[in-house]
Amino acid sequence: MGKHRQIALLPGDGIGPEIMQATLPIIFKAAELTGDDITATPGLIGWAAYDKYHDTMPETTWKLCVEVDAILFGAVGLPGRDKEVAAEMRPERRALLPLRKHFQLGCNIRPVVVMPELAELSPLKDHLLKDGVNLTFFRELVGGDYFGERREDPDGQWAEDVCRYERQTIVSIARMAFDFAKKTGQPVTSIDKANVLGATGTFWRSIVQEVHDTEYPEVVLDHVYVDAFNMYLFIKPSRYSVILTSNAHGDILSDGAAGLAGSLGLLPSASINSNTSFGLYEPGGGSAPDIAGKGIANPIAMILSAAMMFRHSFGNDAAAEMIEEAVRETLRYGFRTKDLLPEGSSQEPVSTTTMANAVLDRLKMPVPQVA
Ligand code: NAD
Repeated sequence: MGKHRQIALLPGDGIGPEIMQATLPIIFKAAELTGDDITATPGLIGWAAYDKYHDTMPETTWKLCVEVDAILFGAVGLPGRDKEVAAEMRPERRALLPLRKHFQLGCNIRPVVVMPELAELSPLKDHLLKDGVNLTFFRELVGGDYFGERREDPDGQWAEDVCRYERQTIVSIARMAFDFAKKTGQPVTSIDKANVLGATGTFWRSIVQEVHDTEYPEVVLDHVYVDAFNMYLFIKPSRYSVILTSNAHGDILSDGAAGLAGSLGLLPSASINSNTSFGLYEPGGGSAPDIAGKGIANPIAMILSAAMMFRHSFGNDAAAEMIEEAVRETLRYGFRTKDLLPEGSSQEPVSTTTMANAVLDRLKMPVPQVA
């Protein structure tokens, strides 16, 4: 018997509302098929909120977020409107970072999959993709220099962003990565710069090794320096599976890996509180103002983010797998939004809603094989 789940829907700006609207029927159907009961309540964030409340992160949205089990997030930010408010009131600064901080969303998960059917979109040559690419980044999200103390010399001679890591912060993200690796039978590659960052780099490596040795000795673990890994990503991407990184390294590497897939419209992400399973789920891309309002945005990143919500916040693997398989089938069948067609293709692209409806039509409970 499933459970009652509450979701805050924060579509935000640009393509956010279009791709979220298209995804909602998929969420409700997957929940119904697997016995979960969903209540989804919309809230305003970003410039959409500013236009009503003169605030890019209004109090009503905060109240909604604290009452739910998970947040489904579209995107915030419209560069054309940045000059309307002070920098700290822009949605990226006032909404997204405080949400991560308030809910202690310390674990960012970003899968990057290159399906054989979409290999032609990847900038990599065929022989590098023939074994498939299936990477899952576990990026620490609330520590390191992105959240450290900031100081600037009033005379303009120096500036510093302190990089500090707490033992427990590393233990939490390492456990998330090892749990996933154990469940999926994959190896873990931990990234650091222990050869140069003698304090935090060495600390990261030793804590990851300790968590491995004491709690997950059966999982295969190796450590790779961040600069070398940056190159390996492009010359042997099939060799890696679960990637465990600090905040800054993960930011750079996961965006680089996203380039392997060929479109931001395919890439989901999850930011999770490892103690409570509360999570914020959002597409890897932003508000894409260049295509907003045209009905051509790819909804798959949002749909796969919803699948991650079922898996990581609701513990409903059946719903997650059902959605992921429906997406694979839809792409295998040949449905393509504009971003999934190579330059000069003669194929007619489908709209946001046609793509989402094709996924919806393919949602079904897996039947056990007995013969
Ligand atoms: P972007 O990700 O919005 O767009 C980059 C390119 O990818 C564009 O050509 C866009 O059309 C394409 N793209 C992105 N998602 C797509 C989809 N689902 N389907 C098809 N094509 C897609 O990045 P940007 O243009 O640098 O940023 C636009 C705004 O979004 C900025 O204000 C930025 O700060 C904001 N942003 C927000 C988030 C977030 O809310 N988490 C993340 C990144 C950027």
